[in-house]
Amino acid sequence: MPIHPWQDVLALVELAAPTACAGCGEAGTRWCAACSDLLVDARAHAWSPTPCPPRMPATWSALPYADAVRHAVVAWKDGGRTDLTPHLGRVVRSVLAAVLAGSPPHLAALVGGRPVALVPAPSARAGTRARGEHRVGALTRAAAHGIPARRLVVLDALRLTRRVADQSGLGAGGRMANLSGAVSVRRAARSRVVGVPCVLVDDVVTTGATLVECARALREAGSGPVVAATVAATRRWT
Ligand SMILES: [Zn+2]
Repeated sequence: MPIHPWQDVLALVELAAPTACAGCGEAGTRWCAACSDLLVDARAHAWSPTPCPPRMPATWSALPYADAVRHAVVAWKDGGRTDLTPHLGRVVRSVLAAVLAGSPPHLAALVGGRPVALVPAPSARAGTRARGEHRVGALTRAAAHGIPARRLVVLDALRLTRRVADQSGLGAGGRMANLSGAVSVRRAARSRVVGVPCVLVDDVVTTGATLVECARALREAGSGPVVAATVAATRRWT
């Protein structure tokens, strides 16, 4: 009997199970009108974690990570619901508008005809293999869909350089230590980040540890200013 990666099994179960909304669980639809409205109506906010780690990039997010949003993100990331990528991508796109309006260096680059890079947060290789794709990379491409590529350039520039523990069981300090020095800029992308304002893209921001480490790697590679855009955030709205 072939051994399926766990995500494939989840996808098979999802396909075999009665249809239910990935957000609220309503039967008979994979994505209900109420959950769709929740995402469409989302408005980006500046957000920072409590406590806020040093060198946290300015971050904007659209939704609290709870209830239907949390269920939908988990189903999208680990439950085989890749059909949600365009929906979540539209949320990121609306957050990008707030990012660009709120970050003068990024706006100045765009107005001046210079590129701004959209940089997906990296996944562990094992996670990408199990999911069949780099999910946050697909989210970033969905967010940029239809935007002239010369302006907002999707640049999959970051990679994890060593194994890291699952962040979900760790507190703020543990997450920071777990990730410290773990992200680097890919060799092929180094020349493309120099001097270029970057927007980190991730699905959820919790303690900020991932965004801090990604921003550190970009800045050390000589990037322009780094800010971040996420679909959802766990605590404290500012
Ligand atoms: Zn629903």
